[in-house]
Amino acid sequence: MTNRNANKNWRAATKLVHGGTTRSQFGETSEALHLTQGYVYDSAEAAEARFKGEDDGYIYSRYANPTVSMFEERMCLLEGAQSGKATATGMAAVTAAIACQVKAGDHVVAARALFGSCRWVIEILMPKFGIDITLVDGTRLDEWEKAIGPKTKVCFLESPTNPTLELIDIAKVAELAHRVGARLVIDNVFATPIWQSPLELGADIVVYSSTKHIDGQGRCLGGIVLADEEFIDEEFYDYFRHTGPSLSPFNAWTMLKGLETLDLRVRKQTQNASRIADFLADETKIERVIYPGRSDHPQYELAQRQMKGASTIVAFEVKGGKTAAFKFENALDIILLSNNLGDAKSLITHPATTTHKNLSEEDRAALNINDGLLRLSVGLEDVDDLVDDLAGALRGV
Ligand SMILES: *Cc1c(COP(=O)(O)O)cnc(C)c1O
Repeated sequence: MTNRNANKNWRAATKLVHGGTTRSQFGETSEALHLTQGYVYDSAEAAEARFKGEDDGYIYSRYANPTVSMFEERMCLLEGAQSGKATATGMAAVTAAIACQVKAGDHVVAARALFGSCRWVIEILMPKFGIDITLVDGTRLDEWEKAIGPKTKVCFLESPTNPTLELIDIAKVAELAHRVGARLVIDNVFATPIWQSPLELGADIVVYSSTKHIDGQGRCLGGIVLADEEFIDEEFYDYFRHTGPSLSPFNAWTMLKGLETLDLRVRKQTQNASRIADFLADETKIERVIYPGRSDHPQYELAQRQMKGASTIVAFEVKGGKTAAFKFENALDIILLSNNLGDAKSLITHPATTTHKNLSEEDRAALNINDGLLRLSVGLEDVDDLVDDLAGALRGV
């Protein structure tokens, strides 16, 4: 294997095409798919040396694999992280990133507005192991400040949040966490690595579901945890290696191909989303549009400061509650009904009856997820066709 070290000064789009590539003796152009579980040694002595850590070759694909390593390296370059480990799903990344740091008696503080399964991990799973948890309104710094105490080990949030696209001040929460020696973990899925760099803002660990924009074409599940070398080596690696949430080499290969076009896709999808947000804002049958790139977003100033671009996702509320929202969804032609996001295909979902149906009515109300709310993940179609589709569906409401 030859490793052409990527230049850290390359701009994101260049890193996404060339970063982390290693080539076999055949000099292939496209990244090789090393679909192997294990590795063979030239001698018994070589095997012994590798297990002693005297050479850094591969041992077993639950620990590391050359195709997976290329994906990890490319993500590290993009994110400006020293180290990273890829996981089978985004949820495996979130769970491992938090669980590896805590023990019974420790305290975790998280924002209330979380992806459904993330909230389950914090609210239901962690307390089973004796970990104390506090959920806060992530937009309120006074609540973070009050909740974070001497036993707090981890703070966790996503920004923008799912599905109402609220923003949380990452730099400020990082400062509060660091006062007590806690680490801040950011789920950066909605922002994408193109529009937000949490490590630069002061966060300690970034997690992704690469199932979303990174694959971007609806094929494979995957995830990644990115942080400094000390955290990955000292706290994360043993947990990862022994519990086994590793990414399949095939999925890593798909993600590598996805990364080549990530910059292009996220920019185009954001451009489409921005145009759609403006279109919807002018429609009388729409109660409100939530889009971080519009100056009427309640946290527009924070969006400008914290993010390099807006969002590929638009949230909006149709007047007339669930009946109107369902009628609208059912009348769409191009835009597909699906709870996924970040895809080349535009996808729409009704959070109250799908992604957030497990929350109580009070919890949904606290998160402003009402019955007219829809979440639209904008794809790569011609934006005029998408606007026509939305306008046609609105006419029937
Ligand atoms: C999808 C998603 C996850 C979970 O990722 P999977 O790959 O489905 O396990 C976590 N957080 C956010 C914000 C997501 O959108």
